[in-house]
Order: sequence, then C-alpha cells, then structure tokens
Amino acid sequence: MTNLTQNKKSLSFEVFPPKKDGEFEKAFEVLDALGQLKPDYISVTYGAGGSRAGKTVEIASYIQNTLHIDAVAHMTCVGSKREQLLDVYRELKAHNVNHVLALRGDRPKDMSDEQYAARDFEHASDMMAFLKENTDLHLSGACYPEKHYECFSMESDLSNLKKKQDAGAEYFISQLFLDNDFYYTFLERAERKGITIPICAGIMPITSVKQIGTSITLSGSSVPKAMADILATYGDNPDEMRKAGVDYAIRQIRDLHENGVQHIHLYSMNRPKTTAEIVSGIRS
Ligand code: FAD
Repeated sequence: MTNLTQNKKSLSFEVFPPKKDGEFEKAFEVLDALGQLKPDYISVTYGAGGSRAGKTVEIASYIQNTLHIDAVAHMTCVGSKREQLLDVYRELKAHNVNHVLALRGDRPKDMSDEQYAARDFEHASDMMAFLKENTDLHLSGACYPEKHYECFSMESDLSNLKKKQDAGAEYFISQLFLDNDFYYTFLERAERKGITIPICAGIMPITSVKQIGTSITLSGSSVPKAMADILATYGDNPDEMRKAGVDYAIRQIRDLHENGVQHIHLYSMNRPKTTAEIVSGIRS
C-alpha cells in the first residue's frame, strides 16, 4: 500500500472467490498469474449476506501469505450483525489480513424485507465507525463517479462519501466508469467537498456484449458512444470484441495517467490474460 499512501502511481486488481468449493485450485492458478503482474494490492469480493465470508478470507489469505501481496477483503453490512463482523475480523487477523473495503452491499434476491432490515448498520460509514473503534483494520470505502443509484443528487452522495472519510476510510475505490469525463468532474467535486484521501479509479475491460447486460447495468454507469460503436462493430465476434475491449481500457487508463490520476483499480473478472494485456499496454 506504500504507493497509495505516498501518492505514487499504483495499480491494483479486484478478484472474486470461486462460486463452488471444487473451483479453488483454478482460483489459485488465476491468482498466481495475477500476482506475476506485481499489483500494489488485490481486493477480494464478499457476498452480501455473509454466508460465504470464509471463501473471501481463504482467497485473501492466499494473496497475503502465499503471494505476499497486500490483500484487501471486502466486507458488507447487509445480512450481518456486529458479532458476525467481528468473527470475520478475527478470521482475517488470524491470516494476517489487515485491510478491509467496508461496504453496505445490495439486497440479495432471496433476502426477505425482515432480513434486510435486521442488519446492525444502515450504511457503510456506520459499519466503518464500528470497525474503527473495535478493530485495528485499515479501512477503505466505495465511491461512485456517476453517483450511487439510490441517491437523489451527486451533492448528497458526496456528503455521504465525506462521512466515510470521517469514519476512518483511508482511501476510496471507485465504481467502474467508461467515460473519463465523469471521473474528472467527480474528482473536482469531491475535492470541493473536502475529500482528501486517495481515490482509486475503477476500470473494467468490456470484452463481451453480455457485460453490458450484467456489470454495466448493475453499476448504473453510462455507455459512451465510443463504447457503443465498439459493441456494434465487434459484438458478434468474441475475439475481436475482447481485443477492442482491452484496447479501450488501455486508452482509458493512459488518458487518466496523462491527466494526473495516480491510482488504477482493475476489475480483473478473474481473467489473467486480459489483465496482463492491459498491464503491458499501460506500462509500455
Ligand atoms: P453506502 O456508502 O452505505 O451508500 C449507499 C447509499 O446510501 C448511497 O446512495 C449513499 O449516498 C447513501 N448513504 C450513505 N451514507 C448515508 C448516510 N449516513 N445517510 C443517508 N444516506 C447515506 N457489493 C457486495 O455485495 N460485495 C462486494 O464485494 C462489493 N464490492 C464492491 C466494490 C466496489 C469498489 C464498489 C464500488 C461496489 C461494491 N459492491 C459490492 C457494491 C456495493 O455494495 C453497492 O454499490 C451498494 O449499493 C452500496 O454500497 P456502499 O458501501 O457504497 O454503501
């Protein structure tokens, strides 16, 4: 995390734990390949509801103790009580994992109104304040260059973001975005709100049309004309689409670097080949 704290260029990845227990060997191979790219840290997603928290811990432990790369475990308050969060904390500490991305989470489809309402913390900032007081974790939070989908205005979303900084977040990781202009405007407005901690720009390579219906729709991010043109031209050709998506991500990151953005967080989608091509493109 040194590059992040010293505000030197940093590059990090996000991975997700395998969906099935039998898939861990493959996941470790993916991590080995990502580790070769020497990221500053790798973050590991967490299923809101917490039932698979152990998987996040297992993957984070491999990153921390086998690859010797800083692991950031995501943690959500949806579906979790104080004691459960502390259990996860103790598990993380037992595996030398000291960094947590503290999130609210979204309501899983199979969660009832009662279960959703039963969480101990309403917002990520409430959970952060609790973790700050009761643990020695290093905390980070999520931010949204195009505003969080529930919030009525960017101004209000930024005020809520400031609450996360005040609650102890040491840096933010952004939602994916495909149009850098949104990010530059967001950075200016965040600065005016008093956000002073580093912000990592979340970049997801769009390598298939399917992603528009899943990741992009869920994130609420806009699809600019340049990306719509790529989808229209290469959408039916998986190989060409993948290449065009990699190229788009490289151009996006180069533009961010040229405009003074230091920290890039790549949503790796557990795809080392695509991630390696992007890393090679931005480091050359
Ligand atoms: P919050 O910070 O609680 O914000 C949620 C909404 O409440 C926003 O509209 C905000 O403006 C508002 N708000 C916040 N604080 C207050 C307050 N004090 N008063 C009033 N309103 C407030 N989800 C997962 O389930 N697992 C993951 O691993 C995961 N990883 C993610 C990683 C990143 C980098 C990002 C950007 C998102 C991730 N998510 C993950 C999705 C995330 O859980 C959702 O976007 C969720 O809807 C919001 O989470 P949050 O932590 O930003 O919530």
